[in-house]
Amino acid sequence: MLCMDKRADLHIHTNASDGALSPHQVVMAAAEASLAAIAITDHDTVDGIDEALNAGDETGVEVVPGIEISAIYGEKTEVHMLGYFIDHHYKPLLDQLHVLKNARFNRGVKIVEQLNAAGVPVVLERVLELAEGGAVGRPHVARAIVEIGAASSIDSAFGKYLVEGTPGYVERYKITPAEAMSLIRESGGVACCAHVAKLNRDELLVELIEDGLQAIEAYHPNHSGAASRFYRGFAKKRGLMVTGGSDAHCLNSDNSTSVGDVTVPYEVVEQLKIAAGK
Ligand SMILES: [Zn+2]
Ligand SMILES: [Zn+2]
Repeated sequence: MLCMDKRADLHIHTNASDGALSPHQVVMAAAEASLAAIAITDHDTVDGIDEALNAGDETGVEVVPGIEISAIYGEKTEVHMLGYFIDHHYKPLLDQLHVLKNARFNRGVKIVEQLNAAGVPVVLERVLELAEGGAVGRPHVARAIVEIGAASSIDSAFGKYLVEGTPGYVERYKITPAEAMSLIRESGGVACCAHVAKLNRDELLVELIEDGLQAIEAYHPNHSGAASRFYRGFAKKRGLMVTGGSDAHCLNSDNSTSVGDVTVPYEVVEQLKIAAGK
């Protein structure tokens, strides 16, 4: 039987961050998968949104301007905060994303300097090349370390040189979940905590509600059916909206998902729109 339900995939990465497909290609894939709507939620950047919106106009796929901000709670609990229906041209948002990007770049430079000082001849230019103009991160340094033969694998490069207590460790610039949510909400968006079962910190979620959390992502490829049901109930009890998506990066690897692998009913988009006052 043909399913005529309108569906939406509300968590997708493009090559503006660490996805493999361009924003245009992502929208084409969404059209191919007969999705009514998708959200572009790149890590700490909105650079892919305009291209996706244009492709959306061409194909009739509704594109929700979004973002996934990497925040840190406490010492090192990574909390990914999704923003939906943000104004992606809002200056204070762009300024803050710029600060994050610079901080990441500076951290990359500092890691390479420290490694060089410790006798590991990693070359900054090569690290930047591996980042392909995107956000510089430790995975790129790790690849450069493996390339020069200073470690046998990415994992061993991390363990020997990049984690706390090793020569290349540099603390990262932190934005808290509360700050990420304020930024999203000031930008006209709805703040949603990503892959909450993966985070597995329900008491933290309760705290985040007080700081402005409006939704949780209950449907995600890493969530079991039981986990999704649990978080649906959790959301209902606390008046949160429930979202879901594929977290597609479309990479050629076993654990990479594709556009449309996890979807929610289109009504969720309508709820988010109302919450964002759009
Ligand atoms: Zn995430
Ligand atoms: Zn993601």
